[in-house]
Amino acid sequence: MNAIKPKLCIIGLGMASMRLLDELVKHRATEQYDIAVFSAEAPAGYNRIMLSYLLTGEQTLASVTSHTPEWFAQQGVVLHLGTKVTAMDPIQQSFTTETGEVFGYDRLVLATGSNASRIALPGADLAGVHCFRDLQDVAQLNDLDLTDARPVMVLGAGLLGLEAAYGLAGKGHRVIVVHRSDRILSQQLDAMAGRLLQKSMEQQGIEFVLQRQLAEIQGSHQIEAVRLNQGEVFEVKALITAVGIQPNSELAKQAGLLVNRGIVVNNALETSQPAIYALGECCEFEQQTFGLVAPIYRQATILAASLMQLPTRPFEHQLSATRLKVSGIEVFSFGDPNQLGDQLVLQDPSLGLYRKVVLVDGVIQSAILLGNTQDANWLFELHQQQIKIDNSQRSALLFGEAYYERAAA
Ligand SMILES: Cc1cc2nc3c(=O)[nH]c(=O)nc-3n(C[C@H](O)[C@H](O)[C@H](O)COP(=O)(O)OP(=O)(O)OC[C@H]3O[C@@H](n4cnc5c(N)ncnc54)[C@H](O)[C@@H]3O)c2cc1C
Repeated sequence: MNAIKPKLCIIGLGMASMRLLDELVKHRATEQYDIAVFSAEAPAGYNRIMLSYLLTGEQTLASVTSHTPEWFAQQGVVLHLGTKVTAMDPIQQSFTTETGEVFGYDRLVLATGSNASRIALPGADLAGVHCFRDLQDVAQLNDLDLTDARPVMVLGAGLLGLEAAYGLAGKGHRVIVVHRSDRILSQQLDAMAGRLLQKSMEQQGIEFVLQRQLAEIQGSHQIEAVRLNQGEVFEVKALITAVGIQPNSELAKQAGLLVNRGIVVNNALETSQPAIYALGECCEFEQQTFGLVAPIYRQATILAASLMQLPTRPFEHQLSATRLKVSGIEVFSFGDPNQLGDQLVLQDPSLGLYRKVVLVDGVIQSAILLGNTQDANWLFELHQQQIKIDNSQRSALLFGEAYYERAAA
């Protein structure tokens, strides 16, 4: 007779819990736990990063789905799709789903991600105002009328706004991106790289209006036009808001867990309640929340090991490198994009190529690569290992590893 195993339940099936599941499978966790996953979304585990490619049609749902129902069956993990968890009871160690079913747990992992921030303007709930976060959003954007010549406006030129713009332009819509700062992707790029990326996107037909904010949404049931803070009015068929994300921590808050912006966790990803853990965009560690997968994947590795009572390092903040493909253009950056120091720059604007490495006391503090990111990992490693760059090799840094090694010889 099989011994009864403790129940490990995971709420959410996004990028964080898929990586956690991969790590758990690697450690043969199903021999130790009965694992069940509860996902509010109806489709199985897909790669959220690929949403814009679903919109353009370059990818299909099948091609971006890694954790299929068959995968779960093979691993012996129970999957509850389309099952939103609506309440938790940490005292009884149970939670309730939308349909009123109650499940008990021995260990509970919250991986509920985040929601797109809403704009605080009248009209934000009109038909035609969307965000870009999941497959449901992609389905709604797919329904936009291509024969309607009015543009789609995207508010925000951070990663998510540019992804949405790329997807919509690729589908054939006229797209105007409105952004409050003077450059796009300002958390990752300096002014020059921002301009070059913007130029490349403009060549793909995407228009930009910078240093503007949304002042008014016009329309009665359906959005019809928007007015910007300098008075310009645009007739639009839709507005996509991409102005930030909010950790999805409501469930935890209602259950009395400690929540600031996100669900507060310690360096073992433990929440304020015993046997409840959180990771990914829903959690907050040392006053910081997360919006890219690199730190979230590190959290998954640590949490899986600790759930399996294996030795593991505590989670700590690390400078994460950002590697993106925006509008098909490769972007890599780490550190402060406006870092002061010795700036080494190589650029070829007509090819959309840009490389900047900033050294402080001979050590790389930040870098931006645009167009060709082939040397990204190598530069990041030099930074992580705090290698002091010899004067004779400094300029060779911009030409890549092989050239740099030759300069040393
Ligand atoms: C279009 C797009 C492009 C991106 N590109 C990049 C990129 O290039 N590089 C990068 O590093 N990052 C990128 N990101 C960010 C990255 O996708 C997120 O950081 C990552 O998805 C966060 O993972 P998560 O599991 O915490 O949250 P999510 O992936 O959002 O998963 C959370 C899941 O939990 C479910 N859920 C929530 N509440 C409940 C509940 N009560 N019951 C059951 N289920 C629930 C949600 O429905 C969702 O499926 C991109 C994001 C988007 C939207």
